[in-house]
Amino acid sequence: MIELCKDCPHNCGVDRIKKFGFCQAPKKIVVAKIIENFMWEEPCISGSKGALAIFFSGCNLKCSFCQNYKISNKVFGQEYTPKEFIKLLKSYDLNRFSCIDLITPTHYSSLLYNALSIEKLSIPIVWNSGGYEKPEVIEKLAKVVDVFLPDLKFYSAETSKKYTRISDYFYWASKSIIKMRELKKDKFKDDLMVSGLIIRHLVLPNEYHDSNKILDFINKNLKGTKISLMSQFTPTENYKSRKLYPLEYKLVLNHAEKLNLNNGYIQDFSSSAEDFIPEFD
Ligand code: SF4
Repeated sequence: MIELCKDCPHNCGVDRIKKFGFCQAPKKIVVAKIIENFMWEEPCISGSKGALAIFFSGCNLKCSFCQNYKISNKVFGQEYTPKEFIKLLKSYDLNRFSCIDLITPTHYSSLLYNALSIEKLSIPIVWNSGGYEKPEVIEKLAKVVDVFLPDLKFYSAETSKKYTRISDYFYWASKSIIKMRELKKDKFKDDLMVSGLIIRHLVLPNEYHDSNKILDFINKNLKGTKISLMSQFTPTENYKSRKLYPLEYKLVLNHAEKLNLNNGYIQDFSSSAEDFIPEFD
C-alpha cells in the first residue's frame, strides 16, 4: 500500500518515494549532523552530560530567519530507515548523555515513530520541534517521546505568513501543544526533565506585541507550564535584519512578569550571538 504523507498540517498527500512535499524530505530519515554532549538546551534538558543532539535535514516551516538555514532549506546528509536509525542511536554509549535531542523532527514523524517503537532506550527522548504539528500525530508520538520541547513562534496569521508563508501556524501549534500538555506530566530525576513539556519562544525584532499575545495565550490555557523565553535571534547571510533591541526583549519579560509566568527560563540578552549556530558542512 502506498502511504501518502500527511505527517504535518501541510497535508501534502505525496508518496515521498516519488515526490517531494513542502519539507522536501524523502521517505528515509535524513540526519545532517550529530553533536555529542550538546550543552545549548535548557539546563533541565542538557543536564550535566549534555544531549546527544540529532539535527535533521529539511523542515516543514522554513522560517526566513532560520539560524540553521543551511540544513533546513536543503535536504542533505546520511539517510536511515527506521531500523537503521534506532541502530545508530544504540551505537552510542547512551550513559554519556542526558537525553536524545531530536532537533526539527516533525517532517519525519511517522518514520521516527516507527524507529522509536522498535525499542525503548535508556535515556529520555526529547522532541525539539518548530510547533507546526497535528494533534493526532502528537498523540501517537507521545507513546515513544518523553519530553516535548516545541516552539510557539507566532500568534497572528499575519506574523506567521510574513516569516513562513503559513497563515495557520498558531491554529495547529496551539492545538498540538495543548495535546502535549494533556499527555505529558512534568517529571524530574536529579534536576533532569524525564517527562513533560517546555514551550519555547524566540522574541523577534519588531514583533514584541505578537510575543505578548503568546504569553497571554499560555497564561490562559497552559498556566504552570515551563516557558523558555529566548533572545538569541541572530541575522544571517540568508536573512539580513537588525538585531533585537534590549528594550523589545525587556517588554516581553515585563509582560511575563506581570502575568506571573515565572516557571521556566529566560535567556540573557547577550545570548544573541553567532556562537549559537553550529557549523553545518
Ligand atoms: S511532512 Fe513534509 S511531505 Fe509530509 S505533509 Fe508535512 S510537509 Fe508535506
